[in-house]
Amino acid sequence: MKRIILKAGEERRILAGHPWVYDNEVALVLDGRGRDASLEPGETADVESAGKTYLGRALANPHSKIIARIYSPSKEGIDRGFFKRRIRQALERRRGHDLALRSARLVFAEADFLPGLIIDRFAGWPFGKAEPLAAEAPLTFERALEALGPPESWIAIQFLAFGMDSRREDVIAALEEVAARELGGPPSGIIEKSGAPVRILEGLPKREGVMKGSFPPEGAVIFENGLPFLVMIEDGQKTGHFLDQKENRNLAATLMPENARVLDAFSYTGGFAVHALRSGARSACLVDLSAPALETARRNARLNGVEARIETVRADVFSFLRDLPRSRDALFDGIVLDPPAFAKSRAAMGDALKGYKEINLQALKRLRPGGILITCSCSQAVGEQTFKAVVADAALDAGRRLTELAFRYQAEDHPILVGYDESRYLKCLCFRAL
Ligand code: SAH
Repeated sequence: MKRIILKAGEERRILAGHPWVYDNEVALVLDGRGRDASLEPGETADVESAGKTYLGRALANPHSKIIARIYSPSKEGIDRGFFKRRIRQALERRRGHDLALRSARLVFAEADFLPGLIIDRFAGWPFGKAEPLAAEAPLTFERALEALGPPESWIAIQFLAFGMDSRREDVIAALEEVAARELGGPPSGIIEKSGAPVRILEGLPKREGVMKGSFPPEGAVIFENGLPFLVMIEDGQKTGHFLDQKENRNLAATLMPENARVLDAFSYTGGFAVHALRSGARSACLVDLSAPALETARRNARLNGVEARIETVRADVFSFLRDLPRSRDALFDGIVLDPPAFAKSRAAMGDALKGYKEINLQALKRLRPGGILITCSCSQAVGEQTFKAVVADAALDAGRRLTELAFRYQAEDHPILVGYDESRYLKCLCFRAL
């Protein structure tokens, strides 16, 4: 086993819980006999401080700036048995989420001690089977269960690090085995959705496609907070559905004023809008650039019996907000802003902050006095304090006073690993604006 010896002092961040070793922190790499060596992409290596303190075993990738990702604090091998143990531990961490019947992120990469591995599991029924039930009466999970039997499950998986990508067979075999035993059966389909640009930094091409089984052609209907949602697992963005906003969608809906006219900006498939409408909002306007996302949003509105109360607009949110009439009766009672990550890296920070400020400023100008602003940022590089400062700055320019009603991170099935701030990425701020 090769050894990666760090420069003096570089172990502190790792001892505090951060699992990455950057290439400029490495003093030398030694082979099993103590001679100078170089690392091969995907191999395992032991990481030690300059003072020879053992820090853990890592997946190496000399082509990445993140030259090693620690996956274990001990000298543990990384085989099928390892993946079974780790996946079982991840399920244990999500106990109480009723995983056999509910959709959830099962594995959240480094935060579940599986670097570069994301696994989302969708539990539900094919749209073709579930949709007819919605025509008769409001579609509930219990009715679907009674009429259609136990839900099927489908997995969307992302391999985002070289050493994980090269162990894909063991990962899949372990996942199938654990799911069969602990989640009520193996998945009906597994699809790879490794389209993320971070793959390029690892020297990996984008890779997407069905790995196992099959997917319902018209999508799957899952239940979130008791409401039916169509997920286009194959064609949707990222893994198909943004599970990370599950709890925030519920919260946002309860904060909306009675009979609210809601704007769901960057709506994707309408998660926030549908939640708001189901808890008493009068109408919702959904804005997104993606036509397929809005098509799914309309189906979601139909599944929830609220199709008469939505309007979908295919537009760029920046120009949409700027072009809205400023008359008093055109103001919204509640606005949700849930844009994609504007800051993909620290280098893109300046423009990202300008973007966040602009949409928050324009939204505040279109919010009635006493209205609710739900504003999110999923850029990891934009910290909580920075994001709050940007919104405060927008409020200053808009001449509005804000009361902070709630501040939330991502859903509980996306755990936050202390010492590894990359896992604390989603910020959701809820305000009343006077
Ligand atoms: N709120 C959604 C998730 C939003 S993801 C939910 O609850 O599920 C971000 C969305 O923004 C994507 O659907 C993407 O198509 C859309 N998008 C990205 N840039 C945009 C822009 N400039 N204007 C409008 N929509 C945009």
